[in-house]
Amino acid sequence: MGLIYDSIVIGLGAHGSSALYHLSKTGKKVLGIENFSIGHDKGSSHGESRMIRFSYSNGEHYVPMLLRSKEIWKEIENESKESLLFQKGALYVGSEHHPTLIDAKKSADKHDLEYDILSPTEVKKLYPQFVIDKNSIGFLDKTAGYLLSEACIRSFINLADRNGAEIVFNTPVVSIKPMNNKVIVRTNNQRYEAEKVILTVGAYINELFPDFSNHLDLWRLVAGWFKPDNLSFYSPENFPSFVLIEKEHYSYGFPSIEIPGVKIGFSVSKAQNLNSTKEMNREIEDDDIALLRYWLEKYLPGANGDIVRIGTCFAMSTPDRNFIIGPHPEHPNIILGHACSGHGFKMSSVIGEILADLSQDRKIKFDLSPHDPRRFF
Ligand SMILES: Cc1cc2nc3c(=O)[nH]c(=O)nc-3n(C[C@H](O)[C@H](O)[C@H](O)COP(=O)(O)OP(=O)(O)OC[C@H]3O[C@@H](n4cnc5c(N)ncnc54)[C@H](O)[C@@H]3O)c2cc1C
Repeated sequence: MGLIYDSIVIGLGAHGSSALYHLSKTGKKVLGIENFSIGHDKGSSHGESRMIRFSYSNGEHYVPMLLRSKEIWKEIENESKESLLFQKGALYVGSEHHPTLIDAKKSADKHDLEYDILSPTEVKKLYPQFVIDKNSIGFLDKTAGYLLSEACIRSFINLADRNGAEIVFNTPVVSIKPMNNKVIVRTNNQRYEAEKVILTVGAYINELFPDFSNHLDLWRLVAGWFKPDNLSFYSPENFPSFVLIEKEHYSYGFPSIEIPGVKIGFSVSKAQNLNSTKEMNREIEDDDIALLRYWLEKYLPGANGDIVRIGTCFAMSTPDRNFIIGPHPEHPNIILGHACSGHGFKMSSVIGEILADLSQDRKIKFDLSPHDPRRFF
């Protein structure tokens, strides 16, 4: 017999910390277990910032979730007295015929979101930091912006703690066994039981449930912060978040927020595909730096200075780029929240709410069919 809980959340990154926060409001006995410390850099949510946007080229079914996610981010800001969400605009640069730009514009029109289409000269006038060729346009999504990712997770954890959730850090879960109507969770020195387990271990899912491994792609991504010629020129007041698009490749970045440098990262189309988290090379190679500098030199030459910080990150993706949200098809007491396919952070506030509701058999008001785990079984 071990310690008994109503629900246990395993993995306290973006989605798990959010689920724990939502569960902590129910008054039930809940526990969160995390392998590393709060704000660690071995998962998929570190690195200061994540983009948020509401004109969504990834699919219309996301829009209701996006709107609810914004409401919850505001709620968390109020409760935690932290500023987390900054809607200071995001600039997409690419061909006006590129599907990402066409779909973003369509979605903005449909949902009546504010945007501007800018010629290269207009981009230069508004943001002289950018160099843009004559065949590209700028799509300035005015309601987009960024979330402070580590601060978001810290806020969820602090609020969950304040609401009475129990939390264990630096402790890997080594096995999860469904048994009758409960689930047995083991760490190296403890046995826990719960009616429901919410599994939000991100890239590490394959180590606990290898049956997923054939369906998910795991990538090694790199993001760096580069010192610009004039830091204040690249502050959030003067410089937007951005996405630079060239055919199937893209790069994304952020103004200089707290880390003094322009952040830039590259997409999975140029990333190393991994078979397992154990294959991750955390050393930064010359090729990684060359890839980031390619985009800076071409589009933002004034920001192509010394490296201030650089690091790796896991990204996990489903083939259809939708998420995995729902009960495990063979073990319904285990609720999965996974593979947020390079675009899930902004929705972690609502994904946590959905996971908490699913674990209590509550009705869900969103269409979860695109994210149904059964599509992989
Ligand atoms: C470089 C990069 C850029 C991105 N940009 C954006 C963006 O701009 N906008 C956006 O919306 N999304 C973006 N995403 C996607 C988004 O960041 C991820 O979908 C999201 O952060 C994943 O959160 P998670 O909770 O699934 O994983 P994580 O945050 O990695 O959390 C999983 C947690 O589980 C823990 N864990 C693992 N195994 C165990 C175990 N056995 N026992 C206990 N704990 C365990 C891990 O330590 C970790 O803390 C980006 C992703 C990457 C990698």
